[in-house]
Amino acid sequence: MSQLIDLTAEITEEMANHPNHGRSPLFLSGTRMNHEQAEDTWRGKGVDDLSLVNGFVYIAEHNGTHIDAPFHLHPDGKTIDEIGLEECHGPAVWLDVSDVGPKGEIGPEVLEDAASDAGIEVERGDSVLLYTGWDDYLPDDEATYLGEHPGLSEAGAEWLYERDVSVVGIDCGNVDIAGDVSMPAHRVLLREGAPDSYTLIVENLRNIDEIPSHRFVFSATPLPLSGATASPIRAFAIVDD
Ligand SMILES: [Zn+2]
Repeated sequence: MSQLIDLTAEITEEMANHPNHGRSPLFLSGTRMNHEQAEDTWRGKGVDDLSLVNGFVYIAEHNGTHIDAPFHLHPDGKTIDEIGLEECHGPAVWLDVSDVGPKGEIGPEVLEDAASDAGIEVERGDSVLLYTGWDDYLPDDEATYLGEHPGLSEAGAEWLYERDVSVVGIDCGNVDIAGDVSMPAHRVLLREGAPDSYTLIVENLRNIDEIPSHRFVFSATPLPLSGATASPIRAFAIVDD
């Protein structure tokens, strides 16, 4: 039997949102009927016992737990609909880098120490999830969640890119250190080798430390949104007993 661990932030109108990504999501009122209204709609049309509801949600590509495509940073990079399923579903490891603290740098030494503590090797094609613990600041302290989080240094991003990992995921809003607008980690992972070579980025993960084994299968598949720079995902770990 396998165990599934949900690594996804719940999507609500109140959720923490990077200011660059606009005001979203919005669950548009009036499109989501309640069941009483729905029954009234069908009544008198020969159907007395059917209640069918649906809604409409407007959401930024980078809201909540999401995966970035190379096109986010490179004009010739793949858009999210061009990413193969096998690129975002496969073998994975998680590393505990929670010691680095506010605006801390996750560099090669931190990554090497964390891999050795976990007793694993980062291998070609792995997804690597970085546990910073930053999701603990939600929902109460959005300012710290968005404005003080650690991130990969340029050298840390190079360390992962050189190992040809498939995805780098993190449990804060940005894989780069809060406030670093030059975005060195995004550049290395999504732009440096694009369009041919790249490492996908997953942000706003949750509960990474609840994955009971440091080696598992990670699933982070996007919606095939035509021409999009990213997509919200349902991220989860699959662990074999
Ligand atoms: Zn993003």
